[in-house]
Amino acid sequence: MSNDFLRNVGPVPSVELSANDMATQLAEQVASSLEPGHHDHTNRASVRVLRPRRAAPADTIRPTRAEVNLAHLRHNLRVVEKTLATTNSKPPAVWGVLKADAYGHGSAAVARTLERAGMPGLCVALLEEAIELRDAGIRIPILVMGGYYGPRREGLEEILARDLVPVVYDAGHIERLGMLAHFDDDGRRVGVHLKVDTGMGRLGVSMSELDDVLDALDARPHVRLDGLMTHLACADAEDLEATRHQLSLFQKALGRVRARGFAPRYVHIANSAAVLRMPETHFDAVRPGIALFGVSPVASVGNDLKPVIRIRTEIVSTRTIEAGQAIGYGHSWRATRQSVIATVPMGYADGLDRKLSNAGHALIRGRRVPIAGTVSMDMTMLDVTDIPGARIGDEAVFLGGQEGPLGRDVITAEEIASTTGTIPWEVLTSISRRVPRFYREP
Ligand SMILES: *Cc1c(COP(=O)(O)O)cnc(C)c1O
Repeated sequence: MSNDFLRNVGPVPSVELSANDMATQLAEQVASSLEPGHHDHTNRASVRVLRPRRAAPADTIRPTRAEVNLAHLRHNLRVVEKTLATTNSKPPAVWGVLKADAYGHGSAAVARTLERAGMPGLCVALLEEAIELRDAGIRIPILVMGGYYGPRREGLEEILARDLVPVVYDAGHIERLGMLAHFDDDGRRVGVHLKVDTGMGRLGVSMSELDDVLDALDARPHVRLDGLMTHLACADAEDLEATRHQLSLFQKALGRVRARGFAPRYVHIANSAAVLRMPETHFDAVRPGIALFGVSPVASVGNDLKPVIRIRTEIVSTRTIEAGQAIGYGHSWRATRQSVIATVPMGYADGLDRKLSNAGHALIRGRRVPIAGTVSMDMTMLDVTDIPGARIGDEAVFLGGQEGPLGRDVITAEEIASTTGTIPWEVLTSISRRVPRFYREP
């Protein structure tokens, strides 16, 4: 196992701070902010600088953890940028989508890496996610795509106070924002991106109501239309007919917006699939999510992407059982020969799908072994009969690659998704907060 390079950065859930640590830090923060002259460097007792605590894997008790390879993240950004450069004379801006804790990778560390790599903007689903990134010190524009700002004014006030970019899709949004911005002390205008529904049927102004929303924008000079966007429902499908239809509706909407005298600087519709296979969807900016994390939504493209996360644990117990003996909840697995069973401390509460019971695999010593029996909440059993010498402390990989004395193999999010009947997006976002994320910065 590699102890080098691994460190743990960023706010919860990726920093391992005990409740006591946090209480102490908070007390120190309060104390230092109250003390006069706390900027005085000679007054050592009062100078408190909070740094992200670096944790070594040895700091965690349980050997189950997620290793996030930030070099692979940067590599995937370059792959996306290269794709865009070869198909566009003026390549669009890449705004990485970091919703759901950056697809389970830890949004603060991911955002920091992408910001340093020159990414001009980010997208999240929730206002809460945007606030988390601002709290982590991220300075680049953040687009809040979910369009939900709560029933009271606090949500929109946060948008203004933290300089976030709201997605709007109805006149109410625009009126409320316009009121707030109007009474804003700085007299600032707020830039918004308008979402149009071209066939996703989820959020977005319909084509028939577009003019009403544009009227609302006309009536609110403090609200500026900076962006026009839509979301594609079928960009990863074999048949691109539905996507072409969405594209043509969007072109119509864009035409109407421009005819009304608006000039949105950012026109964007492309998710990862569209980025990789449909240059006609690129416009001024693109919004790839999963491709940045090394998963291509379309098998025929994006083969040079590298998975970013790797989930590993270690064998904590082994036993030899006789033919005919059953193991685990419900005795769903029964030995057909004398067998060696290894127990690993990772279960469905960590995001290991229960549908992997008697169906999924792990890698041990570089070779694939089957999950034996029912995945339980905190533990899983593996049939290691064919792994000579398997013993306590051996690494077990549930997602990602492994090289060992018996060979090398890889378990991808796509493979897990096809076993459990879901999609790689859900596999990645299901890795629970109980699994500490460690960041590899080679
Ligand atoms: C999630 C999402 C994306 C990114 O999708 P990927 O398929 O992961 O690239 C882009 N736009 C919107 C509106 C989204 O919700």
